[in-house]
Amino acid sequence: MRASRGGVRVGIIGGTGLYRLAVSGGWRGVRTPYGRVEVLVGGLGPGRVAFLPRHGRKHEHPPHLVNYRANLWALRSLGVERVLAVSACGSLNPRMRPGELVLLDQFLDFTRSRPATFYTGGRKRVVHVDLTEPYCPELRRILLEAAKEEGVRLHPRGTYVCTEGPRFETAAEIRAFRRLGGDLVGMTNVPECVLARELEMCYAAVGLVTNFAAGLAGTKLTHTEVAERMERGTETIARLFLSALPRIPALRSCPCSRALEGAVVRV
Ligand SMILES: [Zn+2]
Repeated sequence: MRASRGGVRVGIIGGTGLYRLAVSGGWRGVRTPYGRVEVLVGGLGPGRVAFLPRHGRKHEHPPHLVNYRANLWALRSLGVERVLAVSACGSLNPRMRPGELVLLDQFLDFTRSRPATFYTGGRKRVVHVDLTEPYCPELRRILLEAAKEEGVRLHPRGTYVCTEGPRFETAAEIRAFRRLGGDLVGMTNVPECVLARELEMCYAAVGLVTNFAAGLAGTKLTHTEVAERMERGTETIARLFLSALPRIPALRSCPCSRALEGAVVRV
């Protein structure tokens, strides 16, 4: 699939909140082979942006049932080549504290039941896409520059552990994830990041630390706490994205647009 010319170039995937920033926007229903997705297309900064609330407009889809393939396909069909994502995270790393932002650079995948590829064999082909560097280096660089300019504290890298959810983790799981090198834990970045790469889209994700993970804070985890932190962090992320958007060049110089070269199994 190719991007439509003159379409929307940047997509923002987030929880509820960020898309309220759009000006003169309107909701659109986008049909995809995987289902219909509602996307808000509106102005933000210098251009048009597609906002996609990952969990649905009314937060009706839990993380393990989010229709990730429909979400990414919908953005691509609108012409989006770059995706900026926001994910709420628990922290396993004492240096990454609640309220802080982390620019993800690697992930560990502990999901179990999610459709994780567009390439399901047969006429849909078999593709083994390279994820050595899962997040777009160009978008990562731009976000770091924007953070510096805006005085926003953004940890430059972090390994994200993606769990299946919707439950939170046990203390033993968190101990194991720390030993494996995880910094943050969340439920949504995989397969979202992978599917973007399969569609040759650039994808970068900012993790917003909402709490210390199970067993590290000594208190019970609640969704209320997560939602409150998310609300407060949204303003900072909006400032970061507003500064990043005009820095994104029209043409891509990263390898993301050639992700399928050499990845398709020839029969
Ligand atoms: Zn890229």
